[in-house]
Amino acid sequence: MTKFLLDKYKDFEPYVPGEQPQGGYIKLNTNESPFPPSERAREKYIAAFDKLNLYNDPENSALCKVIADRYGVLPENVLVTNGSDEALAFIYMAYADGSHPFAAPEISYGFYPVFSALVGADKLTFPLKSGGYVDEKAFIGYDGNVIFANPNAQTGTFMPLSAIEEMLKKPRLVVVDEAYVDFGAQSALPLLKKYGNLIVVRTLSKSRSLAGGRIGFAIASAEVTAELKLIKYSFNPYNLGRAAEAAAIGAIEDEEYFSRCTAAVIRAREYTEREAKALGMEMTDSLANFLLMKRPGTDGGVLKAELMRRGVLVRHFSTPGLSDCIRVTIGSMEQMETFIKVLKDIISGARI
Ligand code: PMP
Repeated sequence: MTKFLLDKYKDFEPYVPGEQPQGGYIKLNTNESPFPPSERAREKYIAAFDKLNLYNDPENSALCKVIADRYGVLPENVLVTNGSDEALAFIYMAYADGSHPFAAPEISYGFYPVFSALVGADKLTFPLKSGGYVDEKAFIGYDGNVIFANPNAQTGTFMPLSAIEEMLKKPRLVVVDEAYVDFGAQSALPLLKKYGNLIVVRTLSKSRSLAGGRIGFAIASAEVTAELKLIKYSFNPYNLGRAAEAAAIGAIEDEEYFSRCTAAVIRAREYTEREAKALGMEMTDSLANFLLMKRPGTDGGVLKAELMRRGVLVRHFSTPGLSDCIRVTIGSMEQMETFIKVLKDIISGARI
């Protein structure tokens, strides 16, 4: 550590992303899509290459329009970002500090406490209810700004829109991170017509097969998106590059491919849930593209290591409340059949 690093960062704990090995595993650890990007995204991405000598449109107007049309809002309601992580970062930068924390679920996306610490806000969390559900009563009862993923990160559980509407009735910001909404859950977007204090955050990393493209967006009132742009233009005005923007437009326009991919993931999730339960695994009710599961009596880290030795990579978190679990991304049906077969071998061999 150099002597130049500011004191406030000396003990700072950054977010730890999931492993990204280059091949060799059935990769079920970072909630990506098992399917390639749509052909339409590919064509547009390649066509954009020839103009990479020029800066992109800093407003990303073409993509904002496609998103606005797809989700029934106006372009001024949309802010596109370099991954939805950047949208979340802008939200924390704009609205959180030492006297304005965001309350979040105790178990959720690991970036919320990191962003919170980065902007000097206090950590404020509410424990999950049994079954891994977000405790909507705690969020409704609290008066300040709130943020949560719906379906929730790590547990995949879904909170009904009626609870979100209750939260919106108080004069505070309600940030709904819908990274996993496309796998059978319901979006809070219809509430936007009635509530100017709602921010919905989306990503193309999961259901649109573009994790490596780094494309996310926020949808909110025009007033809120203008405030978020204040941060964007003070930080990285050309935040979403030309090639990524082109791929995103192709992916959103290809509704048929999107529907096929998400339906396939839902089918594979239902298969995995059924088979894993038959093997004695316990899990939360997930509407996301992953399942959080455990084998009673077995440490999640040990189970992850055994799966990894057999070529299947899943995610393990050593944080309290999660250390006995593994989080399994839903891949293709073929990948999930292999996962189940390997899990069965491990359990029947009683090697753990
Ligand atoms: N929100 C949640 C709940 C997530 O799990 C993730 C992905 N890890 C993100 C946001 C960020 O996704 P991206 O930056 O790839 O859009």
